Amino acid sequence: RKFVFVTGGVMSGLGKGITAASTGRLLANAGFDVTAVKVDPYLNVDAGTMNPYEHGEVYVLKDGGEVDLDLGNYERFLGTDMTFDHNVTTGKTYQHVIERERAGDYLGKTVQIIPHVTDDIKRRIREAAEGSDVCLVEIGGTVGDIESMPFLEALRQFAHEEDDDDILFTHVTLVPYSKNGEQKTKPTQHSVKELRSIGLQPDILVGRSEDRLDPETKEKIALFCDVPTDAVFSNPDVEDIYHVPLMVEDEGLDEYVMERLGLADEALPKEER
Ligand code: ADP
Repeated sequence: RKFVFVTGGVMSGLGKGITAASTGRLLANAGFDVTAVKVDPYLNVDAGTMNPYEHGEVYVLKDGGEVDLDLGNYERFLGTDMTFDHNVTTGKTYQHVIERERAGDYLGKTVQIIPHVTDDIKRRIREAAEGSDVCLVEIGGTVGDIESMPFLEALRQFAHEEDDDDILFTHVTLVPYSKNGEQKTKPTQHSVKELRSIGLQPDILVGRSEDRLDPETKEKIALFCDVPTDAVFSNPDVEDIYHVPLMVEDEGLDEYVMERLGLADEALPKEER
């Protein structure tokens, strides 16, 4: 089984979810069974108790699970039904670990974030991925937040435990413009530095910007963030988010992901997708 982890840098609300869902759509078009997990690093057990004015509408799944709006994007983009297990929150994880502690499951041990919470996170991701060829795992929030640390540590361990060609890290960042219209890569460089400081090296970088990234911008990001230039992709503003899959397909993101995950030979030929 293959896993594509999607993290975000610089700021939230960038389009991480849409980027992940679009990647999933293209992999599904190529004939793979794709599912997704949304990780929300908040202490609420689910999104049902959150203010919709602040956080967007609560999305209700078929099994009654009250989750983040992003799960709705995944259902629509992937054309599959998700269950409550596809949403992993800090609240859910801690609640379970503490219940197990009270039940005596860890008797004699000091219950800690590493390994008890991180083990529970990895178990949830693996269970939600069962039955799929590719599982997208989106980490909500921004790299560097205290809240997302246990999840990023769990991903680091996860990558360590799986084969190299089964795991891909995609990092979505903001590429702003300076007053003189230049695309600026510094925020991307800083957020990749932050990722690397916790032991994660991205394989793919997606730059969200007003327009497509210039070739020089891609080269600069590649050089400073230590990825090949063809691993840097644009995700410019589009009028309709359902155009994002076409946009990233045009950039070749799907082909690159399949190549890196060793799926290219099994993929349907382009004309049959
Ligand atoms: P994140 O997961 O980073 O918080 P989302 O994927 O939920 O972000 O997207 C945040 C907002 O940006 C949503 O309203 C989404 O519709 C919009 N968005 C995402 N990608 C694009 C794009 N390429 N062009 C225009 N709007 C976008």
